[in-house]
Amino acid sequence: MSVAKLIVGNWKMNGLLDDSRTRAQELADAARNHKSADFEMVLCPPAPLIAMVGDIVKDTDIKWGAQDCHEQVSGAHTGDISAQMLKDLGCSYVILGHSERRQNHGETSAQVNAKAQAAQAAGLIAIICIGETDAQRSAGKADEVVTEQLRASVPETATPENTVIAYEPIWAIGTGKTASADDIRHMHALIRAKASEKVKNGAWLKLLYGGSVKQGNAGEILHIANVDGVLVGGASLKSGEFWGIAQASAEGKALSA
Ligand code: PEP
Repeated sequence: MSVAKLIVGNWKMNGLLDDSRTRAQELADAARNHKSADFEMVLCPPAPLIAMVGDIVKDTDIKWGAQDCHEQVSGAHTGDISAQMLKDLGCSYVILGHSERRQNHGETSAQVNAKAQAAQAAGLIAIICIGETDAQRSAGKADEVVTEQLRASVPETATPENTVIAYEPIWAIGTGKTASADDIRHMHALIRAKASEKVKNGAWLKLLYGGSVKQGNAGEILHIANVDGVLVGGASLKSGEFWGIAQASAEGKALSA
């Protein structure tokens, strides 16, 4: 399948106005100067920076998104942000069910499912994150955990147009440890098979890998079978490194499995 790789930067809770403006401007300049059909880049800054970042990249091919949304459209939900509000800010994507939200905010797969439905209803593409802990992998339960998270987090309303699934082994996030090519290949094939049972045209669903992706390993990861892109945390905070990761979409095509 020769479609553009999806390169998503999750800035997490990092950045103030000045450094974020500079990062977004550097990426916007790169996107203007080097148009590419090999990848689609998405920036997901912290909520207070979304409007500024969107304004900076809006005349480029770079899209932008958020890191979470509420499942309701509006109401008494202090501190929360609705999918409609994100759409209103020009967002195209929203990351949902990131392991940091599941772990730090007790988000369940049922909540992620409801949020994904809200995102889809608002016209956003939901990037639904799933992945096992180190202990679950060591216990030989990685496949089981990921299959169950997929079943419970992905709504019946999912289509390849409104949903992306990100496999992020928790032990690989922000640790510098990356899953092996064989493990990624195995898990992405499993996710593709399970998702295809649930989602019509599941072969077209974009599956991302996330977990310590950097410029040096992106080329190999991006060309593993069923890897349609990457979700990048730490390395998305350096514009040159992040742009290099995106550029790796075009490199090493001979490695395609
Ligand atoms: C993430 O937070 O989604 C992530 C993959 O982080 P990192 O790239 O820093 O491992």
